[in-house]
Amino acid sequence: MKLSRAARIILIGAPGVGKGTQTARLLEKFPQLSAISSGDLLRENVRARTPLGIKAESVMRAGALVPDTLMLRLIHNELSTRGYLPRPHSSPFTLSSTSLSDPLSATSFVDPCPPTPSDAPPSPFPAASFILDGFPRTAPQATRLASTVSMNLVIHLHTPLPALLARIRERWVHAPSGRVYNSSFNRPQVDGRDDVTGEPLTRRDDDDEATYLERLNAFEKVSGPLLAFYEGRGVLWRVEGETSDEITPKVVEEVVRRFG
Ligand code: ATP
Ligand code: MG
Repeated sequence: MKLSRAARIILIGAPGVGKGTQTARLLEKFPQLSAISSGDLLRENVRARTPLGIKAESVMRAGALVPDTLMLRLIHNELSTRGYLPRPHSSPFTLSSTSLSDPLSATSFVDPCPPTPSDAPPSPFPAASFILDGFPRTAPQATRLASTVSMNLVIHLHTPLPALLARIRERWVHAPSGRVYNSSFNRPQVDGRDDVTGEPLTRRDDDDEATYLERLNAFEKVSGPLLAFYEGRGVLWRVEGETSDEITPKVVEEVVRRFG
């Protein structure tokens, strides 16, 4: 399906709600979209043993949130690499930046990435459409993002807790691509193997029940102000369902209604 104007979409929802699944389905339906998943980006950095990945690893394993400054640098860097940000005259996120050469400086009290007033509006062309899966996660992240690019649809995915818990227990991932499977309702074609590459599937380190409950706790603490921020901007839309299959058609319909 074709978009007739640029869609800049954020997915917000409890851990395991299926943000990654909905993202993958939206990319299939709307080829003009691309996506950035904060969790996948972080896991890539952990695997590659980058300074940022090493710093994030223990935080993620504990089910806590990676500090805002670190996340902002990671995402803004990705957005500008992909050309989704208007180019400011001097951006703290470009590769020439000194702050990038010291990724650990985010732990200091000096804010390494002050908001950059954008000097051009985001591209209105449908090809400049993208989804952010898992970012922003906190109101400060949202405020900072808004100073650079305005998102025009924030989807709040909601699924009741018992369904979430069951789902997490059955989640398998293909780590290199971020593809997600479920051993009861979204099985791979061959058990334990990725559909595309045939490589083995694994469990995520942070999907054991105790860590999951920590992640849920972190989500519940920060999501109120985050959702309020987007509600105030008139871009929040909530969708509810027990399963991803139930949610997908509603999401697709809404995207068509707004951007088709
Ligand atoms: P799911 O992918 O099932 O929806 P999730 O949202 O908990 O679950 P990810 O988005 O993959 O999982 O994130 C995994 C971990 O990465 C989080 O628990 C957190 O530690 C870290 N993380 C991801 N995005 C952010 C963010 N925007 N801010 C802070 N930490 C983040
Ligand atoms: Mg995810």
